[in-house]
Amino acid sequence: MQVGNIRIIDNNYYHNDINEFLFFNYYKKKEKISKVKHLEKIISQMNENINVLGIHSEPFYDLIGKPNVLVDLTNKPSSKLNSLKLSDRLRIPLITASTSENKGKIMVYEPMNQVEKILLSKNNNSKTIEDYLFLDFENSKQGNIPNGLIGGLATEEIRKSILKLKPNDKLLKKAVTYNLLSNKRFEDKSDITLNFDCYLNEKDLFKDKKIVMIGAGAVGNFVGLGLSLLGINQIYMIDMDEVDATNPNRQILYNFENNIGKRKVDVLSKALKNINPNINIKGLYGKVGEYLNENERSQGVKLIGESELLKLNCDLIIGGVDTFTTRAFINKIAVKNKIPYIDAGTEPFSGQVSVYNPGKTACIDCHKNVYLLAQKEAKENDITPTSCIADNHDPSVVMSNQIISAMIVGEVKKIFYPEVYGFTIRDSIYYNSLSANRIILGNHIRNPRKGCPCSQDFYKK
Ligand SMILES: [Zn+2]
Repeated sequence: MQVGNIRIIDNNYYHNDINEFLFFNYYKKKEKISKVKHLEKIISQMNENINVLGIHSEPFYDLIGKPNVLVDLTNKPSSKLNSLKLSDRLRIPLITASTSENKGKIMVYEPMNQVEKILLSKNNNSKTIEDYLFLDFENSKQGNIPNGLIGGLATEEIRKSILKLKPNDKLLKKAVTYNLLSNKRFEDKSDITLNFDCYLNEKDLFKDKKIVMIGAGAVGNFVGLGLSLLGINQIYMIDMDEVDATNPNRQILYNFENNIGKRKVDVLSKALKNINPNINIKGLYGKVGEYLNENERSQGVKLIGESELLKLNCDLIIGGVDTFTTRAFINKIAVKNKIPYIDAGTEPFSGQVSVYNPGKTACIDCHKNVYLLAQKEAKENDITPTSCIADNHDPSVVMSNQIISAMIVGEVKKIFYPEVYGFTIRDSIYYNSLSANRIILGNHIRNPRKGCPCSQDFYKK
């Protein structure tokens, strides 16, 4: 999202932490650099129309002026308390968010006048100051996956506070928690205990895993980033598009140099390798499916059918694709060959994630009727092409992609190591920026349809 003026305040130096991936140019150097100064440079490089200033300091509020919105992303209750006071004094909304390795939380505080405060306290549902301080995050180390999700939600609240795009486009009224240690995902209370007993080092858990990622668009950018930070050993990326002038607003890794006209798979693999040199990434300029059209053939696109896909010998397929035809095709291969498949769909204000984990959850067709939708799509395609992966310039689109992608990476860990991280979701996760809850996990335990090939392993047990 493009905001005119940004002031970032922080007093830390960067210490070779791969999780702070935007600092990757300094990854190998042992230079002592101020985080805000470097962030200022990167943001200006990504979008030269933004006036960004990094202030290397303890929050010293006279430096702030009067912004439209205040954002507190620390894990420090003392900072949050100061931010609340400032929000009250300036009468501007405060977006407060914190993350730990497996959990993240966000709330929005809107200053009220005395009358409003009294009325609200009479309703007996008023929040206390303590609710906004996020005491249980104090001194926690932050984690990539909650950072991605909460960062996306926070940016969306910033957007809402400045620019309302729909009548029901309101600031968040209650806390949203994302908790990888909860089987319900969006509950504060954890019911999963991490168990590394059989493994020496979490860092090495994903070193022998191979993932195929279909689509190097917006979801591909964020998921690729998440998988690289997770340390997935081998990533194959399949896409047949080139970076065009409309992409960089939501496909952040295309932003660092002028990549317009280059193949997305090439640009993305280079960027991810830069972030984590220890992973293997191969970009395949191709199309997953059963046929190529005239145009695709003339451009040298490679057809990646079932046998080509199976040759990659992958442990998991992630699809960020924009047609039901491709979804149906991937699902058939996944079910037939018992390969886990995570399917994502995004739109400017919403998105969803579904997981097929062979023998444990229903396939994507049992979740979403992709075979039927693919048939419909084939009929309609003569008139107008359909698309469920958002492809427009709406400022919210980058946030929905970021949010959905973070949750995909969260489920990847659970597919590979349920004994460590707990089980994957059995219904889809739905994100909607215009709903009061923002994100929910569907509460139907969706079992495979009788007769669907995915049900064979499921009911055998
Ligand atoms: Zn099925």
